[in-house]
Amino acid sequence: MQAETTTAKKTSQVGAVILFGPPGAGKGTQAKQLIQMFQVPQISTGDILRDNVARGTELGKKAKECMASGALVSDEIVCGMVSDRLRQEDCARGFILDGFPRTVPQAEWLDTLLQEEFFQKRHARAGATGVPQVVVSIVVEYNQLLQRLTGRRTCPTCGRIYNVHFQPPRVADVCDVDGSRLETRRDDREEVIVERLKAYEEQTLPLAKYYRGKGRLFEVDGNRPADAIVGEIASLIEHGDRL
Ligand code: AMP
Repeated sequence: MQAETTTAKKTSQVGAVILFGPPGAGKGTQAKQLIQMFQVPQISTGDILRDNVARGTELGKKAKECMASGALVSDEIVCGMVSDRLRQEDCARGFILDGFPRTVPQAEWLDTLLQEEFFQKRHARAGATGVPQVVVSIVVEYNQLLQRLTGRRTCPTCGRIYNVHFQPPRVADVCDVDGSRLETRRDDREEVIVERLKAYEEQTLPLAKYYRGKGRLFEVDGNRPADAIVGEIASLIEHGDRL
């Protein structure tokens, strides 16, 4: 029975799934489970930007300062990056966007891209174009967010996310999977966290109204164990086109 469910998820059209919420809401953690279930890629603009910063690319040099201060990178840079990524073949059945869009202009740009002819042509064969977007808002209390952000540790090798308060590794600071030393993100320091949450309130929160107005926003309670949340999101993805 379990195997049948998994197959159904893999073969169904997923379309564009947007995980929406403040920093620390668990978007990355949820995305990692969802990509296993649905076999579509996770597109995390934060991860792509961090990778560019680490490799010292032109894009990384432009983004570095904004990221270090907790501000948003320009819409132009981020939309360009997403556009390149969505054109790749592995996005044909759909994709999980984590951390994008983060401003109303980014959301408007995405709407246009998803409707544009080239995208329809490119992915029409796979049938993903007719599937309406599912925007999942993960709602978490402010104090809980602070604890999640200050306690977050990431494995630089496999990308697994831990939390020293809620989900510690078996051995302190060491990844359970591959033994790498866990890292704290540079922007998970308290003074930067405050700025990131401010940017969220001012620039990203208005998106909730934007998607609610289109009837595409689905709220889930993010103050629960990760498995319960992922189950609810999976069901929204499977039935989102009929909601
Ligand atoms: P995240 O890993 O999603 O928390 O993103 C880390 C940082 O990357 C953010 O604080 C921003 O500086 C930048 N960033 C990520 N996604 C976006 C986006 N969609 N728009 C603008 N800046 C972004």
